[in-house]
Order: sequence, then C-alpha cells, then structure tokens
Amino acid sequence: MSNVLPGREAMMTTYNPPNIAFEKGEGTWLFAEDGKKYLDFYSGIAVCAFGHAHPHLVKALKDQADKFWHCSNMFRITQTETLAQRLTENSFATSVFFSNSGAESNECGLKILRKYQESKGRPERKRIIGMSNAFHGRTMGTIGAAGNPAHTAGFLMDDEGYDQVPFGDLAALEAAITDKTAGIIFEPIQGEGGIRPAPAEYVQGIRALCDKHDILMMVDEVQCGMGRTGKLFAYEWSGVEPDVMSLAKGMGGGFPVGACLANDKAAEAMIFGTHGSTFGGNPLAGAVGNAVMDLMMEDGFLASVTEKANKVRAQLEELIAKHPKALVSVHGIGLMIGLKCVVPNGDMLLELRDQGLLCAKSGDNQIRFLPPLNVSNEELDKAIEVLDRVCSKLTA
Ligand SMILES: *Cc1c(COP(=O)(O)O)cnc(C)c1O
Repeated sequence: MSNVLPGREAMMTTYNPPNIAFEKGEGTWLFAEDGKKYLDFYSGIAVCAFGHAHPHLVKALKDQADKFWHCSNMFRITQTETLAQRLTENSFATSVFFSNSGAESNECGLKILRKYQESKGRPERKRIIGMSNAFHGRTMGTIGAAGNPAHTAGFLMDDEGYDQVPFGDLAALEAAITDKTAGIIFEPIQGEGGIRPAPAEYVQGIRALCDKHDILMMVDEVQCGMGRTGKLFAYEWSGVEPDVMSLAKGMGGGFPVGACLANDKAAEAMIFGTHGSTFGGNPLAGAVGNAVMDLMMEDGFLASVTEKANKVRAQLEELIAKHPKALVSVHGIGLMIGLKCVVPNGDMLLELRDQGLLCAKSGDNQIRFLPPLNVSNEELDKAIEVLDRVCSKLTA
C-alpha cells in the first residue's frame, strides 16, 4: 500500500484551512495561486506587523542568511544581545529570554512565577491564576493557565496548579489569592476570546494585589504588544509595570521570534541551567527582530498607528450606525480592533473573504481587524468599503 498522499492529506487534521494558497505578498496585499488578490487585515494573526516582504526586513534576513544561521546559545549571539538591549531600554524589563513562539515565551514566564517563590523559600506557592476567556498558547502549561475547556479536554490531569477568575473582576481575583499562589497571568487586551481591554484601574488593582502578597504579575503581550496598540507595549496604557512579559507575534514580522522579559526581581532566580532553548534567539531571529525594532522605533511611527486607528475607528462607528442589523460595537485599542457582529461572525468573515478582505475570527461574535501597522489610509478606506458592501448584502 502506498502512503503517498496529496500534501494536504499528510497534514494532521488540527487545522481546517479553506482551499486558498498564496504565492506572493506585497505590503498589505496577498496574491493567491489562483490569481485572486486579498487585502490582508489578518496579518497571520497580528504577526506581519509591517505587511509582506517589507524590504528592510527581507534585507536583514537575507544578509544574515548569507553569513550564518545557527550556532546555539552555547555561544554569544551578538545580533540577539543587541535586540535584548533594545527591548530592555524601551520597557520595564532588565533581561530577556528568547524563544520561537508565544506559547514558549509564556512557558518561560510561568516557570519564572514559580521559581521566584521557591527562591524566596516558599516552594508551596506554585499555583498560578489566569483569567476567563484567556488565550496563552497550546502547550500543556499555557492551556492550563488559560483554562479553556475546549483546549484542555483530553490533555491535562485534574489539577495542574492553575486557577481561573473572571477577567475584569478584581474582587474575585483578590478572593482567589491564597498562600499557595505564585503569580498572576493575563492579557492587557484579550485577543482570541473577543477583543477586551483590561481597564487601567483593573491593571493597577492587580499590581497592588501582587505587591501586597509578594506574587508576580505577568502580562501576555504576545498579540497586543510590539506597537499594535499605538504604544510599544500595551501595559503602558495602565500606568503600572508588570514583573514579567511575554512577546512573540509581531516581534519578527513573520519570522518566528518570541521573548520573555523580566525585571531584576523576577529574573533573579533564573540562573544558569534553569531554562533554555535550542533555536530561541538564533542569529536569523536576532537580525530580523532588530530590523522590526528599527521600523517600530522610527520617530513618529507609534503615533501614526494611533492616528490610523482613530481614523478607522471613526469609520467603523459610522458603519455601525448605518448597519445596525449587521454590526453592534467596536472594541480594542490602536490597530487591535474587534468588531462585534449581529450576523454570525463566521458568515461575515466568509463574505469579506469572498470580496477580497481577510480578517480574523474572535470570541464574543467579533471579527478582528489586525492590519499591518504600516497600513495606508487608502487601504483602510478600501477595507471599510468592502465591509460596508458586505453588511448591506448580509442584511438585504
Ligand atoms: C497567539 C497567542 C499566543 C500563542 O502564541 P503561539 O506562537 O501560537 O504559541 C499566546 N498568547 C496570546 C495572547 C496570543 O495571542
């Protein structure tokens, strides 16, 4: 018997993509093999922060590819050291651990929360509190922290040491903290479970609880970090700083780069030998990560994200007023935009895709607009035009 299958059938069935494959990307546009072109407001789930094939990023990757690709963290990787320095200079953190994905960045952070307590002579403090509707990735630890039954079913033992509280409920959080709690993990703006920003007073309240109980505060900025909200990091909107932060998605603009950042207090126990990664922060990742930072830190760039966000939000509010049978409300900060629908969000996404606009699904019957951060005003107008048309069609 032959085991030669069409490529698609050789894929494990964890994904279910439509029959669309791309052959080229250019800025905000993706070109499919069948000749159709799409305006990409999906950005590979907030990954392609500067769209497709940005010349500065392509050059950084190619230049490094010509030199050497990999040597492991058993040697110094200067490209990545530079990136660590730039990330710490521009954040609360004093040190960085590099990984290849969001889940791995979170794994590092979850380990830090526990290690901190052990190093303080409190090894019984292992429990980590997460939030309802959270998403932290698909590893054993991160599905435990998020506690979404759709993701944990069949994978975890009864109690892996994670507790969940309703997102946004400070009293419930306070009540959940015990003498077994190591730390708290949450997304400053929830992404997968419906776009939900954590109010500043809530984040300030979490900070105060963490200080009071000497537990660590970890923010998962895998989706909302790296300029997405118009600030380099979303925690900056709250006026307080976390102890630990995970990053990934936008960090490499499409090249797999992740990082876990920490302050001195949190990182102190992560001594030689406590954690590691073969590929994390390899020279290719370092080179591209620096190129992303070059663009992100250009004068006025983050302000331009906010300007575009304000413009498109005003346009979306107009569409909501015009199409009350299709749209309910707009959510989020900056270019992390959730649009709550009346019609099923899946129908909306399909119709938008047919009309050449790619968006992402989210919980709470929302669709997500996650355009590249350097999207043009014309492209935003174009997307609004398509959405307007689709709303008319779906409610005709
Ligand atoms: C996507 C995402 C992750 C997981 O990232 P992977 O790279 O898929 O492991 C974790 N947290 C948040 C908030 C995310 O949006």
